[in-house]
Amino acid sequence: MPELPEVETVRMGLAPAMEGARFAKVEVRDRRLRWPLPKDFEKRLTGQTVEGLGRRAKYLLADLSSGDVLLMHLGMSGSMRLRRNGQQVLGDPRYFDIAKDEKHDHVVFHMSNGATITFNDPRRFGSMKLVPRAKLDSEPLLRNLGPEPLGNEFDAAMLANACAGKKTSLKAALSDQRVVAGLGNIYVCEALFRARLSPKRQASTIADRNGKPNERARALVDAIKATLNDAIKAGGSSLRDHRRADGSLGDFQHNFQVYDREGEPCPHCKGKIKRIVQTGRSTFYCPACQK
Ligand SMILES: [Zn+2]
Repeated sequence: MPELPEVETVRMGLAPAMEGARFAKVEVRDRRLRWPLPKDFEKRLTGQTVEGLGRRAKYLLADLSSGDVLLMHLGMSGSMRLRRNGQQVLGDPRYFDIAKDEKHDHVVFHMSNGATITFNDPRRFGSMKLVPRAKLDSEPLLRNLGPEPLGNEFDAAMLANACAGKKTSLKAALSDQRVVAGLGNIYVCEALFRARLSPKRQASTIADRNGKPNERARALVDAIKATLNDAIKAGGSSLRDHRRADGSLGDFQHNFQVYDREGEPCPHCKGKIKRIVQTGRSTFYCPACQK
């Protein structure tokens, strides 16, 4: 499933093709996505210019000249394919896959600059939605999201405040989209390893009695930002490599320290990485390094 760094990688890939360009033609081949595309979807997009392509958590947000914002979510298996005059121009091998089955191409944007952007999603958990910009703050999909982990406002004080008094585990707290937006299973495991904090530790222990941050909160915020930035950088380099390669490069998974590495040696202490299940999801960590 695409997590925040992958969505940011997609955003960086699409921005040059979308920003400043008009939707010359919009083709919808299947409206039955996670939430159905409205009947007037094509009409509201066609002719509009994309003024900017941003991201909030795992949503891409295209600001349109009409005053609408186009929200896009990749779901579990969604990808965007970008072509210019029929030629594949760039792509992360997983999220701009060149070999996807075309029967899962649900939406095609033909941009005024010659770029074609195709949304492909075999499982159809992804979708798109048009929201007037003035109503974005009250949009149900975005309204309850916590701070952006890479934003300046997300710091140790904010995280400690959100975790103060929480009896749940750190793993569960960081996976809660109201505490911090856009973190999923992979990067929660990776960030906790980098901070040397146990996923089983009670969330409240990163704050003191008054809800003020301690050393653990500072280490955790630094680890979250560094982990996400490294993954975005890795995505960026795979984008560059992919242009001259055969599509086999650029899997972030090669960079994982603990995720999906049960029984393998910890990169730090060489002890064995352990897998446990927390709130129904696998957690990977090093019991020796993470306290
Ligand atoms: Zn270790």
